Amino acid sequence: MSVTTTEVEAQPFRHFAAEVLAVRPVGASLVRVTFGGAGLRDVTTSGPDQRIKVFLPRAGETDIRVPTGPDWYARYRELPEDERAVMRTYTIRAARDGEVDVDFVLHGDVGPASRWAGGVTPGDRAVLLAPDRRYPGYRDGERVGADYAPPPDAAWQVVAGDETALPAISGIVEALPADAVARVFLEVPAEGDRVDRALPPGVEVTWLVRGPGDASALTAAVRAATLPDGPGYAWLAGEAGLVRELRRHLVTDRGLDRRRVYFGGYWRRGQSEDAPQEPAED
Ligand SMILES: Cc1cc2nc3c(=O)[nH]c(=O)nc-3n(C[C@H](O)[C@H](O)[C@H](O)COP(=O)(O)OP(=O)(O)OC[C@H]3O[C@@H](n4cnc5c(N)ncnc54)[C@H](O)[C@@H]3O)c2cc1C
Repeated sequence: MSVTTTEVEAQPFRHFAAEVLAVRPVGASLVRVTFGGAGLRDVTTSGPDQRIKVFLPRAGETDIRVPTGPDWYARYRELPEDERAVMRTYTIRAARDGEVDVDFVLHGDVGPASRWAGGVTPGDRAVLLAPDRRYPGYRDGERVGADYAPPPDAAWQVVAGDETALPAISGIVEALPADAVARVFLEVPAEGDRVDRALPPGVEVTWLVRGPGDASALTAAVRAATLPDGPGYAWLAGEAGLVRELRRHLVTDRGLDRRRVYFGGYWRRGQSEDAPQEPAED
């Protein structure tokens, strides 16, 4: 497979050949992989929760088999499952000057991406399907694969998620304006995943460390929260069942307009990302 920077110009997303430049832990459960490569100067983000596809070699292989070009997905699906590259969804934590940071949760040896991230070393290769800064829409503020979008009249926001959403939530929090009013809830596996940072005065972050047996404390914390009056906005991401419950609470119990709630099922307990998707709840 070869990826060039010119084959699909001016499309929102393009495949980029990437090489691992650095690997370092960020907290107890995540590892930051910094990718580099000649073409990565063209990677951009259209929002702080910019999703990308990461293609990885299958276990024991180094080749990454992924078709490129406009019909890449159909051709990828046609490849035998045991031959095509592993494809997973991740968030750009940062993109700068030919480098892209992606924070991978190490959730054990049970998934190919987590397994890869647990053993990755500089020099390893991957392919990223990521926003191409040359796409003209980005200059006009178009978002592609980025969902965080509080309406201009939102007086407050709730931002909540688990460790898979930590990269996106970190980006969201860093981009909040100085006068933002936000309640941020983060559920992580370990105390060592906390990241303390300077915050605008109206922003309050609540860290929750998951209990034994995967017991979630996130819903209880959001339920117990006192939220300001006025029109709000919510961005929720993490395990699919968890975010559905959070959204139901905000819409049904709190009366938040469902159009003002983004909810992203970032993973599903007991199911690989390769499993067929359930239709989204409306
Ligand atoms: C828009 C979007 C953005 C995302 N951004 C990130 C990101 O920046 N960083 C990140 O780490 N993840 C992120 N994710 C989640 C990531 O895609 C999934 O966790 C993915 O399933 C990991 O692939 P895998 O090969 O390790 O496991 P899979 O092969 O998909 O799953 C194998 C098993 O592991 C379980 N599993 C999967 N993820 C987890 C987990 N986090 N904790 C415990 N068990 C798990 C599954 O339920 C399954 O039983 C994002 C997902 C989406 C949709």
